[in-house]
Formats: sequence, structure tokens, C-alpha cells
Amino acid sequence: MTATNQEALAVSEATGRWALFGGTFDPIHIGHLRIAARLRDLGFDKVLLIPNRIPPHRPQPQASGEQRLQMLSLACRELDGVEACDIELLRDDYSYSAITVAALKAQFPKVSFTWVMGQDAWQGFEHWHQPLELLEQANLLVVSRPGLQNTSHWQEQQLELRQRSISQLLASESGTICLQTLPELDISASYLRRAIKQGHNIHFLVPDAVLDFLNQQQLYR
Ligand code: ATP
Repeated sequence: MTATNQEALAVSEATGRWALFGGTFDPIHIGHLRIAARLRDLGFDKVLLIPNRIPPHRPQPQASGEQRLQMLSLACRELDGVEACDIELLRDDYSYSAITVAALKAQFPKVSFTWVMGQDAWQGFEHWHQPLELLEQANLLVVSRPGLQNTSHWQEQQLELRQRSISQLLASESGTICLQTLPELDISASYLRRAIKQGHNIHFLVPDAVLDFLNQQQLYR
């Protein structure tokens, strides 16, 4: 299912706590999937994986939106309660998360949303489009990722005001931030793209169905 297919655009009565995990997913890998699985364990009723169409802060993806969505759908088959969502692929404009959250909130007013990102994305969050507006509509969950991390003055201020534990975040409608340590996997999509280009074996770093798709479509060669 995608949350935004045409017949579902009417306001929904759905309830619960949904995690929104956005990214380029060029391609999706086990780092993303382990996070999605842990989000379900932590208590989120649903996890939506949201591929962006035009990422504002990085080069454009190599695989098309359709190819990335297809890889997400193949990967999600193995995970209960984790789904690919095409909401950003359907928009022509930059894929701003604040706009995505506002659109989902309008469609699912009774759901409480948490936007999820890795620690590297949190480093740049203050420069995102309308970060505080995003926090008015959703919580923010930052998951640990290997690498150097700095905390800016803006981040310190926001954490002082909003930082809560994961159980407090799950009980909250919006506006809280949780920094959550999860088992870290030092893997990235850019590593995979490089490895494929160099002809290296990437078995076990993506689901087998995604590997078959990458081979069939000759992606990143
Ligand atoms: P790239 O190498 O192309 O930048 P990526 O592996 O970082 O890709 P993205 O699709 O850009 O993947 O990331 C989507 C989200 O997933 C981001 O919030 C990012 O921080 C997070 N993420 C990706 N890989 C990991 C990982 N191994 N551990 C923790 N978070 C991750």
C-alpha cells in the first residue's frame, strides 16, 4: 500500500503512532532496514519509508523514483508493518519533509507522526526547510550512525527544550526530540553504488530481491 494512492486521499480515520523514515534510498540497504525493524520493536504501529523525488541538500539520485520505490517495496515484503510511501515522488517540487508531514497530517489527522533520521542528517536539520514547523506536526527521532558528530548551538537549544526518552516521545503528539542509540551498521548507499561500479560483491548488504532487481536493471554499473 502507499498512503497516498488516489482513492485514499479523503481524510482517514486511522489512528496510531507512525514513523516516517525519509531518504533517497539510492539504493535501500540493510542499514535502513534494521532501523525500520527496530522502529516496530520500539512501539511504532507503522513505518513508512518515503523516497524523495528532489532531495534539496544533495545531488540527484542515480536510480529513478520508480526504481527506488520498487526496491523499497521488494525490501518491505519481508517486514510486517513497514511500507513504501510514494507521497514525495508524486510532488514536482523539492521534497521538503515539513511539507510531507503537513500533507500526511491533513490526510491522517488522528495519527501521531514521528520523523526519523540518522545522526548525519540531524547535523544539517537546522538548515532544512521549516524545521520548527515540522516539529509542530511531528516528533523527531534521531538514530545513531557511525561517524563524527558535532552539536551546534541551535541543536543544543532545541534539545534543552524538547529532548525526551523514547517512551515519552511515543506518548507525545508532536514537538519532542529523542536521540536513540541503536546497534550501528557502518553501511551507506554511496558505498554500495561505488562497490557495484567496481564490480564488488554486495551480497547480504541488501535483500536478495533488491540484489536481483539491481542486476536485472543494471543499476549503478
Ligand atoms: P548516501 O550514502 O547516498 O548518502 P545513505 O546510506 O546515507 O545514502 P539515505 O537514503 O541518504 O542513505 O538515508 C536516509 C536516512 O537513513 C537518513 O536519515 C540517514 O541518516 C539514514 N541512514 C542511512 N544509512 C544509515 C545507517 N547505516 N545507520 C543509521 N542511519 C542511516
